[in-house]
Amino acid sequence: RVVVVGSTNLDLVVTAPQLPRPGETVLGEDFRTVPGGKGANQAVAAARAGAACDFVGAVGDDEFGVQLRASLVGSGVDVGRLRTVPGASGVALIGVDRSAENFIVVAPGANGALTDLSAEDRATIAAADVLLLQLEVPMPTVVRAADWARAAGTTVVLNAAPAAELPAELLDLVDVLVVNEHEAATVAGLVSDEPAALLDALLERVPRVVLTLGARGAAYADRRGLRLDVPAPLIDAVDTTAAGDAFTGALAVSWAERGGAVSEESVAASLRWACAAGAACARRPGASTALPERTAIDALYDA
Ligand code: ADP
Repeated sequence: RVVVVGSTNLDLVVTAPQLPRPGETVLGEDFRTVPGGKGANQAVAAARAGAACDFVGAVGDDEFGVQLRASLVGSGVDVGRLRTVPGASGVALIGVDRSAENFIVVAPGANGALTDLSAEDRATIAAADVLLLQLEVPMPTVVRAADWARAAGTTVVLNAAPAAELPAELLDLVDVLVVNEHEAATVAGLVSDEPAALLDALLERVPRVVLTLGARGAAYADRRGLRLDVPAPLIDAVDTTAAGDAFTGALAVSWAERGGAVSEESVAASLRWACAAGAACARRPGASTALPERTAIDALYDA
């Protein structure tokens, strides 16, 4: 079982020939709404990858909240711990031009109200094999969830996205840190093109690190001295949005299914499977809509 404590947003996406400058109005083209938020995306990724997955989060009491809840249910995520709070749901206003340049403004809305984790949430975390966290809900909530997981023996996987410096009280509770190169540099407080240097710096703060490297796959290092480089499957990338969420969700699922085994063979298989999930997502257009089912992950894993 995997539990996610995190964000859910509705992405309001409009395409336009060019993006407006401040004060300017431009005529757009098509408009669509897409469920998003790193927490919800990773919960959907985990459920589609085949895990029982609980989502602890908050939506507003508006139409968007109804839509976000239905989308999670439709992907097989357990929403027993998803609350509806007064006010607006989280939204991201996104403009995209023809060269795929974008602007994004996020209003956290209900995600900012996820401050009241309950005894039921604690029991849900304790019953899971893996707790998956990101940084789009209030930091005290992230720390409390991690603390409860640690006390119950639930493995804490933190995807430090969006990039932020992390308090020591959180780093001390993390079992596996998942970061891309930009997030790694921010958490480590170090700018380097060398994955090995980033991994070394991060191992001073957490016991295990997974570094995602886009089309180059992923690297792993832990304090026992294990180091792995895992190539990504060769694919024609169409849209890499949400590839990181697909990767992280699948990694959590594989970690849970393997009972937290940390042998070289087990970790390598989990990383390879997560890379297959990221690649499967990148070869389809769209964000959360492109998160792959288990069969699509297995097909790339076995290829
Ligand atoms: P983020 O989107 O968070 O920056 P990455 O770009 O590192 O994350 O992508 C996450 C994972 O998705 C990678 O580790 C890789 O496994 C997979 N992936 C992303 N882009 C590609 C690509 N062009 N080809 C194959 N796999 C990819």
